[in-house]
Amino acid sequence: MPELFIFALPEMENAVVANICRKGGVLDRIARFDLCVPLLLGLVVFLICLFGILTRPVGFLAAIWPANAVLLGLMIRMPKSAGWQGWLAAAVAYMAADLLAGSTLEKAALLNAANMAGVIAGYQVYKYLPAASSRLQHPASLLHLAMVSAIASSVAGIVGGIANPILFGGSIFPGWIFWSTTELVNYISFLPVVLSAPKLDGIQTDFSVLITRFRHEKWPPLVLLLVSCIAGALVGGPGAIAFPVPALLWCGLVYPVFPTSILTLCIGVWGLVILSNGLGDSSSLELDVMTLISIRLGISLVALAPIMLSCVTQNRNALVGRLQYLASHDQLTNVLNRSAFREEAARRLALGTSGFALLMVDLDDFKGVNDTHGHATGDTVLVNFVQRVKSTLPSGSLLGRMGGEEFAVLIPDCRQVDAVAEAENIRQSVGTKPLPAGDGKEVQVTASLGVVAVEHGDPDSLDTLLAEADRLCYLAKKRGRNRVEAAAET
Ligand code: GH3
Ligand code: MG
Ligand code: MG
Repeated sequence: MPELFIFALPEMENAVVANICRKGGVLDRIARFDLCVPLLLGLVVFLICLFGILTRPVGFLAAIWPANAVLLGLMIRMPKSAGWQGWLAAAVAYMAADLLAGSTLEKAALLNAANMAGVIAGYQVYKYLPAASSRLQHPASLLHLAMVSAIASSVAGIVGGIANPILFGGSIFPGWIFWSTTELVNYISFLPVVLSAPKLDGIQTDFSVLITRFRHEKWPPLVLLLVSCIAGALVGGPGAIAFPVPALLWCGLVYPVFPTSILTLCIGVWGLVILSNGLGDSSSLELDVMTLISIRLGISLVALAPIMLSCVTQNRNALVGRLQYLASHDQLTNVLNRSAFREEAARRLALGTSGFALLMVDLDDFKGVNDTHGHATGDTVLVNFVQRVKSTLPSGSLLGRMGGEEFAVLIPDCRQVDAVAEAENIRQSVGTKPLPAGDGKEVQVTASLGVVAVEHGDPDSLDTLLAEADRLCYLAKKRGRNRVEAAAET
């Protein structure tokens, strides 16, 4: 399946590819000459060319030719493969596929000169664009993509136009128009899919996350898309092509860029199929070539809108996520800040499962640490103190920085006796081994803890519990520090 290669190849960084290549004697030799990536690239191009040739319908206008867009996308995502070996492998693959399909050497050479010229031109332009554009991560990426597609297809069109009289007996200008518009449609349809395909190492996680989210909330846009397509097919006529647009825009709002590009591609192909069938009613609707070209261009340009929307939405979501993180986390230690801890603790108490322990932890004589070693060292000690505490906490615990060198811990499903044991654990893990303090230094600190435990959670009791844990922590200080004080179970 060529598609598998398409999504796998982009992130096959040298190490992975070299690993694959290292297996076997011949491949070993090939790897040494850095030919593994070009060979894989050539194989992908060859298979996709065959796919394009085999699925080419009788009508020349409806040709779906993903090879150029895929090659350009792969070159952009794997710049290391864009050496002379990569381009040579691609050229050989193009020629091999055409010759295998029965083209003459002259025809194959001219057709593929146009293909290669377009891809090379597109690649040269992409090299000067911001890196985020190449992964469709920036709102302007789609404009860049449209620009690159236009340049690549125009260049391919020039070569194709010159070849037109030789190959098809036509004239240069119509050849250029026809060739470049066909190329543009293909670039705009396929390039977003290759550029936004997930990284190889992230596919599994992304996929499982996607499935889980999908099951809960994300299927309505897809259902609407299917309904729109069915309605379009039933109603027919020129307007049918636009039926799925609202659903596609909704998909762009809800889905990441990659699934949106795939859906957009499918709908684009669906539109072209409807179009090649005479908009569902070939007897009454005779379209001239320019009208067909115009509609095809229209479809592919409209298809950019959902992908752009998805790109903007993903950026906005990432930004909101980042802001939410910053608003709820302490910037030094990366644990929850005071207000976020209180909010989350109240939420968990409201769930009211079987008992909670609340611990207040305060470092002893931390002012002395700062005075002796400096504030920067104090910061590092705080960060490593948090790591140490985290490593001792049972899973599901909540840790927050209440201020300065004072932290609170909420442990669910924890009885009084266990709560005291957990607190002792923390105290000993901190007090028995010095903490890294940067530059190879280590600083020994101790902590005092106040512990309260409740049988049943109640969000209203949070303030009381915090105050009580604080009081007990203060008591631990008074009684000599580096100790745990606990209250009777409430
Ligand atoms: P005690 O044992 O009574 O808790 O003594 P202490 O010195 O730890 O307590 P005190 O409340 O007098 O001082 C807390 C110190 O913690 C003062 C302040 O310089 C230090 N501190 C608070 N926040 C930070 C921080 O973010 N970084 C560093 N380096 N020090 C901090
Ligand atoms: Mg202190
Ligand atoms: Mg303090």
